[in-house]
Amino acid sequence: MNLILLGAPGAGKGTQAEKICEKLGIPAISTGNMLREAMANGTEMGLKAKSFIDAGKLVPDEVVIGIIRERLQADDCKNGFILDGFPRTIPQAEALDQMGVRIDRVIDIEVPDEKIAARLSGRRVCLKCGATYHTEYKQPKTEGVCDVCGDKLVQRKDDMPETVLDRLKTYHEQTEPLKDYYAKKGNLRVVEGQEAVADTTALTMKALED
Ligand SMILES: [Zn+2]
Repeated sequence: MNLILLGAPGAGKGTQAEKICEKLGIPAISTGNMLREAMANGTEMGLKAKSFIDAGKLVPDEVVIGIIRERLQADDCKNGFILDGFPRTIPQAEALDQMGVRIDRVIDIEVPDEKIAARLSGRRVCLKCGATYHTEYKQPKTEGVCDVCGDKLVQRKDDMPETVLDRLKTYHEQTEPLKDYYAKKGNLRVVEGQEAVADTTALTMKALED
């Protein structure tokens, strides 16, 4: 099954992508992770992406699309894949169509902006081991210290309140129109994000069946 997960930053797409990956045995493809990998491996597309990021610019569509095209040709995508974070704009969705990629379902995870803002602004991460915490929902044993490796916890710039508002605005302007784009094709399913991850996963799995 070829899937796309849509939703605002902080709506829990990444977590749901991992759950579907476990249940269906198809790879979850996160554009963010792929960009980091491509840059670390120094691939042609990775080096291109790095030149934009180092200059403080957004990675342009043609580069992101190139990286996705390379990735979807890998063997592990033969039985399907879950795209998380791509497409992010109508031109990217059109590029995916032009590649001849069939999409079976688009799952849109809906969470109100206020809830997202509260979730993201409470998030703390350990830069050393990657563990994530939350000031309300997932507190470390000692405040400000990683349970796993003992390093200090920080708030990512992405999660600071003013950045969150900017990211939500960009989402509403550029990515949300994709809901209509896929609704017209008849493969959009809307899932209301729940407080408990497992509840959202149950709704998501149901949306994949109907
Ligand atoms: Zn750590």
